[in-house]
Amino acid sequence: KDAISFEGVAKAYGDSTALHTTNLAVREGEFLSLLGPSGSGKSTILNIIAGAVAPTSGRVLLDGKDVSTVPPRERGLGMVFQNYALLPHLNVFDNVAFPLRIRGLGKDEIATRVRGALERVGLTGYERRRPREMSGGQQQRVGIARCIVYSPSVILMDEPLGALDKKLRDQLQGEIKRLHKDLGTTLVYVTHDQEEALNLSDRVCLMNGGRIAQIGTPDELYFEP
Ligand code: ADP
Ligand code: ADP
Repeated sequence: KDAISFEGVAKAYGDSTALHTTNLAVREGEFLSLLGPSGSGKSTILNIIAGAVAPTSGRVLLDGKDVSTVPPRERGLGMVFQNYALLPHLNVFDNVAFPLRIRGLGKDEIATRVRGALERVGLTGYERRRPREMSGGQQQRVGIARCIVYSPSVILMDEPLGALDKKLRDQLQGEIKRLHKDLGTTLVYVTHDQEEALNLSDRVCLMNGGRIAQIGTPDELYFEP
């Protein structure tokens, strides 16, 4: 079963094509990486799935439904950003609670879910910290907690480890892999780091010049003749 399906999706900015006509199916529960150099169209695909960029042609199905007919909050999408995108004046608890509050959940439900999400990312006890009092790795864990707290069925990550040093990247890579395994959620992961994509993914979608150059399992792409 497909969680996400691109049917002839293309995106142009004026005369310039960011994404050529693309067909792509992401299976339910799959970890798919979009790998490629800067400007190859990775973020365009992610932002089209997220509904932040409207395709010039074609359509996107989420769980079989045309995404443009589903209100944003009902799409079941969660996003993790390279720069964390935390609210600096809010503490960790309130950052993670934010998506639950805008969905109007009750206080007890919010407290339970926030506790669960923080526990999953190893940040129990950090509720009252501000983002600026935390390391980059910890801030991204908050970003991940805020994403998983409302149990999205699809998680989108845009270079989530891009701002971290090598040691933290390796560590968080392991945590993301484990999280995906535990949650079983469909995950689309943008990176220009080949090692990262090969380590994490069920399938890698290799992008070049606004096209899918190759798509397959890490073994199919890199280890077969
Ligand atoms: P990647 O994520 O692989 O770095 P992008 O999807 O961001 O690539 O970009 C693909 C192409 O689309 C690039 O040539 C980029 O310059 C262009 N592009 C992206 N966003 C815009 C925009 N808002 N306006 C004009 N061109 C854009
Ligand atoms: P209100 O809903 O009236 O704003 P709350 O009692 O829900 O009041 O929360 C007050 C503040 O206490 C919150 O903004 C949050 O920073 C913090 N807070 C609430 N619940 C918890 C919790 N379980 N753990 C840590 N901090 C919490």
